[in-house]
Amino acid sequence: MLADSVILATGHSARDIYRLLAAKKILLEAKPFAVGFRIEHPQPFIDQTQYHLEKDQERPRLLPAARYRLATKIRGRGVHSFCMCPGGWIVPASTENDEVVVNGMSLSRRDSPFANSGMVATVEPEDVQPFVREHGILAGLVFQKNLEITAKQAGGGGQVAPGQRVTDFLAGKISNSLPETSYFPGINSAPLNDLLPQWITSRMRDGLKLFGRQMHGYISEQALLLGFETRTSSPVRIPRLDDTLEHPEIHGLFPCGEGAGYAGGIVSAAMDGLRIADAACAVRS
Ligand SMILES: Cc1cc2nc3c(=O)[nH]c(=O)nc-3n(C[C@H](O)[C@H](O)[C@H](O)COP(=O)(O)OP(=O)(O)OC[C@H]3O[C@@H](n4cnc5c(N)ncnc54)[C@H](O)[C@@H]3O)c2cc1C
Repeated sequence: MLADSVILATGHSARDIYRLLAAKKILLEAKPFAVGFRIEHPQPFIDQTQYHLEKDQERPRLLPAARYRLATKIRGRGVHSFCMCPGGWIVPASTENDEVVVNGMSLSRRDSPFANSGMVATVEPEDVQPFVREHGILAGLVFQKNLEITAKQAGGGGQVAPGQRVTDFLAGKISNSLPETSYFPGINSAPLNDLLPQWITSRMRDGLKLFGRQMHGYISEQALLLGFETRTSSPVRIPRLDDTLEHPEIHGLFPCGEGAGYAGGIVSAAMDGLRIADAACAVRS
């Protein structure tokens, strides 16, 4: 279909679109993103520590399931919690058959017995240099994809995800048993510490140890890691002009939302959509 204005808002998982743009030599830019795992605790533990309850004391009924946010910088890269889901579920979020990707969500009741959060380390474009020679601007995307394939293979089939107790991740040993999880497809014990690149594992270790000191009990036998959380944001930006918001090389093409690198989450993506719709109307009128 031919059109005067095309809004490109296909999200950060439409890798075919990035490949299409790269193949047609349409300008893309590498940007930082973050990868890691989901960490899951029993919700009562998060309630007790955040609300300063006694051990085994239940959360008062009028209080919502407690949340947390943790962030630090280790050797120049961020390590932080992401999209914490109180009383929530770890869910599969892959888009192709050869990969496993985990994400999290809460129902509005927030009443699952688990609390999960992304726990990720920042990846700068220079960190994926080894992939640049072969994959050029799509190096970050290939790095993400490789982790997702690794997770699929370590999971052992379907959407089964590789899992490890956080204490074993820190000790560098495979878990003999795994705690219960909200992740329906199931988990398979695997050495996440070896499956991630060492420069990520070492930062995660230091970050987790620090968080364990900040939130007493965060590092415990009950805490489970699931691999991998790779879709925090797009590793590629589709650039646009500051004034018309069109792509610098293609009149009438409006990159928009999270996939273009201008939003991170539901509300910012929606607001970017409003802005782009106005810009597209302005060009037509
Ligand atoms: C499990 C989960 C939980 C989340 N929880 C939260 C949360 O609590 N709060 C929050 O702020 N954010 C959350 N997010 C992130 C949020 O969903 C995204 O940030 C947001 O949806 C991005 O919006 P978008 O419009 O840019 O892209 P998307 O919502 O990804 O929309 C892109 C659309 O383009 C379509 N598309 C792709 N390719 C093509 C094509 N070739 N032709 C036509 N259509 C195409 C896709 O099917 C999709 O409908 C969550 C994400 C996941 C996966």
